[in-house]
Amino acid sequence: MIMNPRKKGLNTICTHVGGVEDKLFKGAISPLYMSTSYAFEDVDAKRYPRYFNTPNQEALCKKIAALEHAGAALVFGSGMAAISTSLLAFLSAGDHVVLQNALYGGTYNLVTEEFGKLGISHSFTDGCRPSDFEAKIQENTKVIYIETPSNPLLTITDLGAIAALAKKQGAVSMIDNTFASPVNQNPIDFGIDVVIHSATKYMGGHSDICAGAVASTQASIGRIFQLAKNLGGSLSDYTVWLLERSIKTMGIRVKAQNGNAQRMAEYLFRHKDIQKVYYPGLPDHPEHELAKAQMHGFGGMLSFELSENLDAALFRKSLRLIKSSMSLAGVESTVLSPSQTSHVLMGPEERKKQGIKDGLIRFSVGIEEPADLIEDIEQALEKVRSGAAVATDGPYSKD
Ligand SMILES: *Cc1c(COP(=O)(O)O)cnc(C)c1O
Repeated sequence: MIMNPRKKGLNTICTHVGGVEDKLFKGAISPLYMSTSYAFEDVDAKRYPRYFNTPNQEALCKKIAALEHAGAALVFGSGMAAISTSLLAFLSAGDHVVLQNALYGGTYNLVTEEFGKLGISHSFTDGCRPSDFEAKIQENTKVIYIETPSNPLLTITDLGAIAALAKKQGAVSMIDNTFASPVNQNPIDFGIDVVIHSATKYMGGHSDICAGAVASTQASIGRIFQLAKNLGGSLSDYTVWLLERSIKTMGIRVKAQNGNAQRMAEYLFRHKDIQKVYYPGLPDHPEHELAKAQMHGFGGMLSFELSENLDAALFRKSLRLIKSSMSLAGVESTVLSPSQTSHVLMGPEERKKQGIKDGLIRFSVGIEEPADLIEDIEQALEKVRSGAAVATDGPYSKD
């Protein structure tokens, strides 16, 4: 018996941990079990897709738990199913939750539209420093919820400080770790209790899977499961199988995206037509040192603002290789305007408060050759500078 097996490296976990063994034919990859009906007599477990325990679900959860240095994991039908189930597993009527102000739009809607009906109160912070969270804690605060790096301004929240604050309060700390992916950040190593992912993003990585995941201790995952089986947000086994396949290349994909994003951030930072770049890998980012201390890589997401006299909508529409597209984290580079998409429901006042300008462009950097991305941006800037006509009919109005 090996007492202390050496923890496997990232890419080995991605490729090898948590597959379903093909005992029948000895195939190289996991067989896919689509059954929704399993024997109930003389079996080790009563299996059913909505009990989150089909062979493919259990195998994928082992991989995700290993990637997040967690005791256990669950996979869901969407990131929002993972977020809503995890939050509600630890919150009841009369409880209070503190949430970071810079928050994924869907989570903001969940909290502001649904929690009141359930008798759960909430406070948003005024910033992302530990003192901003401490200021909002009440006697009945049961959960502290963070997102780092945040969307779309890439602010960084101190994982260790938030974990300590939650412990002092006797609350559960939760993070939406989607932007970093398990490749760039493992919050459990800093004492965070519950780690959530929209697997639609870097885990899937090819813009063709909608899924979610949560990783934590065995006990906390048990508690989340008790609610999950009642809410019913399980993931189709076919998508489970596809997600396992996608995660095999997550390490190399995300590291390539980190490298490209750093290149693009430095290029944009030096560019005379770019006013501001938000990327934790740039030394001028206010939390660059903190990001260095708690992340393995700075990620594939960045945001930037064009110089004031340049038309951001025209710039987006003039891009040829880089698509204007919702969502993020695919192998292909995409851009969007947060004020028209992810943060439209927030309203102009709250956006202004958070520093999200109408001309802000969020850039999800893919795995293309950086020279081709730069060439595309150069030709688009050239069009914007000369005020040329719109090249294509994009889905957005020119404003
Ligand atoms: C996309 C996203 C979500 C929601 O995930 P879905 O899979 O769309 O439900 C949550 N958090 C972040 C940071 C995201 O980018």
